[in-house]
Amino acid sequence: MSGILTGIHYKTEQPITLEIKSGLIEKISAASDFKPNRFIAPGLVDLQINGFKGVDFNESGLNEDKVLEITQELFKEGVTGYFPTLITNSAEAISNTLKILLQSCTECQIINESLLGIHLEGPFLSAEDGPRGAHPLQYIQNPDWELFCKWQEISQGKIRIITLAPELPGAISFIKKCVAAGVTVAIGHTAASPEQIQEAVKAGARFSTHLGNASHLVLPRHSNYIWEQLASEDLWATLIADGFHLPESLLSVLLKVKQNKSILVSDATKFAGLPPGSYQSHIGGSVELAENGRLSMKGSPKMLAGSARSLLDCVDHLISTKLETTVSVFDMASLRPNELLDNTKRCGLKEGNIADLIVFERNSGITKIIQTVKFGEVVYSL
Ligand SMILES: [Zn+2]
Repeated sequence: MSGILTGIHYKTEQPITLEIKSGLIEKISAASDFKPNRFIAPGLVDLQINGFKGVDFNESGLNEDKVLEITQELFKEGVTGYFPTLITNSAEAISNTLKILLQSCTECQIINESLLGIHLEGPFLSAEDGPRGAHPLQYIQNPDWELFCKWQEISQGKIRIITLAPELPGAISFIKKCVAAGVTVAIGHTAASPEQIQEAVKAGARFSTHLGNASHLVLPRHSNYIWEQLASEDLWATLIADGFHLPESLLSVLLKVKQNKSILVSDATKFAGLPPGSYQSHIGGSVELAENGRLSMKGSPKMLAGSARSLLDCVDHLISTKLETTVSVFDMASLRPNELLDNTKRCGLKEGNIADLIVFERNSGITKIIQTVKFGEVVYSL
């Protein structure tokens, strides 16, 4: 499709016209006729999402229609690329989900273009309470390369990210094999020693999954896995900036240390995008979704039951804290995930890049998506 998009460049604040041809940004030029407060930015990319608006990738009963439903709901939230995140489960359940995701991509072009890869978060995680988070203990296991290869075969190579605990037996050689196979390795749900974190980075681990979450309540003050991941110059970090998962002071420190290696993820459960109320979770019993978007265990309001905010909500929240500039926050949710994964054709508003774009307005601290463009096609219009 060919088309023209006019708006204010989210970064330079200059009015621009984008000429789009065959799914790519063909030309960017200065515009004279434009609407005020109407910005153009790259589409958002979520490296970690478990579900949205009532549909969970991890629940049995997933099918192509449901994957399409999530994809289209995410377009409304400005997300043009996402990584369905499969959490710890039985080998059979993971195989089944991978089959469904592959089939959805094979049969539906728009899913195939939006599902940029699969993120496998488990089952090679710490079994310790705290680091394990909500991952079911019964399915936690040591890294198993043969099993991973089987899964990768089923998904035809769509697993592009794996989160694991590097202290597990065999984890370091497993990381090296993943790296050689082009799979990006993240450290997460870990109880590793500082030395084990260093070894993982040396073996090729690239980032920390939701740094600051899924950890022990109390850690040795000088020597622990959070300091070590913070101190590593090579490690990027994903952060859940939903207003509930990280206190603002910690968020501020994480951002200061990781700077342009910070990435926003939603880590959204299927409760994101639903109205407030009581719901049933497939991993943790009854949950309560509050008006402000906080998801907690029913009867234990202090205990978070996962995230129920979209990536766009996280963008708005982080902008509201004033810890980062608006431009930088948008980059953290769009450019940077692509930079981390070397998706060079998706890195920003550049001629020749894939036309995955959002047009938005910002009023009273809220980003309103006006249009979402996926591979040059308008896939959502307000
Ligand atoms: Zn997690």
